Amino acid sequence: MKILVINAGSSSLKYQLIDMDNKNVLAKGLCERIGIDGSNLQHTCVVKGLDKIKIEKPMKDHGDAIQMVIDALVDADHGAIASMSEIGAVGHRVVHGAEAFTDSTIVTEAVLKELEKCTPLAPLHNPPNITGILACQKVMPDTPMVAVFDTAFHQTMPAKAYMYALPYKCYEEDRIRKYGFHGTSHKYVSQEAIKALGKPAEELKIVTCHLGNGSSISAVDGGKCVDTSMGFTPLDGVPMGTRTGSMDPAVMTFLMNKGMTAKEIDNLVNKESGVAGISGVSSDFRDLSAAAESGNKRAELALAMFGYQVKKYIGSYAAAMGGIDAVVFTAGVGENDAAMRKEIVSGLEFMGIKIDDAKNSTRGTVDVSAADATVKTLVIPTDEEMMIAIDTKRLVEG
Ligand code: ADP
Repeated sequence: MKILVINAGSSSLKYQLIDMDNKNVLAKGLCERIGIDGSNLQHTCVVKGLDKIKIEKPMKDHGDAIQMVIDALVDADHGAIASMSEIGAVGHRVVHGAEAFTDSTIVTEAVLKELEKCTPLAPLHNPPNITGILACQKVMPDTPMVAVFDTAFHQTMPAKAYMYALPYKCYEEDRIRKYGFHGTSHKYVSQEAIKALGKPAEELKIVTCHLGNGSSISAVDGGKCVDTSMGFTPLDGVPMGTRTGSMDPAVMTFLMNKGMTAKEIDNLVNKESGVAGISGVSSDFRDLSAAAESGNKRAELALAMFGYQVKKYIGSYAAAMGGIDAVVFTAGVGENDAAMRKEIVSGLEFMGIKIDDAKNSTRGTVDVSAADATVKTLVIPTDEEMMIAIDTKRLVEG
């Protein structure tokens, strides 16, 4: 079965066509500037080994974008399939599934209604995700659609982990609680880790560290998420590129009392903070490492703060699960930044976590643990599109 994976943003739409018989990506690309001047499609036909092409054409909405994607996929020169009927199903990334969606789901009228109800929790992300589904349904009315949620993997958390100690009515009235994000990535890498460790999922306690521009850490016990660092929104947890991560919530009211508006504070904590805000250099870890190496103390501090907080999550999740069998690193920083991995795990030898420096600095090595480590440290590239395709196939095939 060939599955089209769609990740629709407000003015962009990313896609991948995956052949699930052999898990090969056949084609992939991106529509940019949908609904604004300069709309274009960037398409790569992977299966024919062709270079990326760029087609500039007005796209007034997501419907136009989907039609351009289909046209590119069936194009005689740059296409990957002969006709649209070869697409067995479409898997859509949806950011927020609230408490309604504990797993991926086939899209029905009832599901679309429920998705609308989740929108207040992700007002910037869910509307374009829904628009993407509706646009696809219009162009491909007979093809099954599946929604795959960033939050669903975390719905197995127990109440003691997801509740905030606010008056209970805040949860009852506004559903204020921890939801967690990056769930598709945590699910994928934890499943891959379970395969690599070669033991039944039920016997394994894993901490997955998705460290990228946005970062989150999850505790996965028996294949199920039992805690995660992001919360009601993706602002919580460790410091990120430009986001604060956790801090005393009273900082917010202090700033409001100084005269800052909610909008200004929202901007401050989401866009001007994190490692970029601390260093004054960049949100990019490569820039930070280079600056730190040339003696920039604030870049050094930003990296140290990040490593320290991730280390604390690993320790606290091992405590929460009553043990740990593996730590998994993934995403831009987790997969590529050997020095940060080393910094995070150093000092955790008392827990049995120890990496082999040579393995850690060799790209593509999955198991970077030292021979005498009792807890494995794994580097597993994330693949959210593949996870969406795997779930889509599972649901469509029933
Ligand atoms: P996003 O959260 O946007 O999906 P990614 O997972 O792509 O982000 O991660 C982006 C981050 O990964 C950037 O901060 C970038 O600096 C970092 N990164 C990518 N490659 C490297 C590398 N070789 N060394 C250190 N950091 C890297």
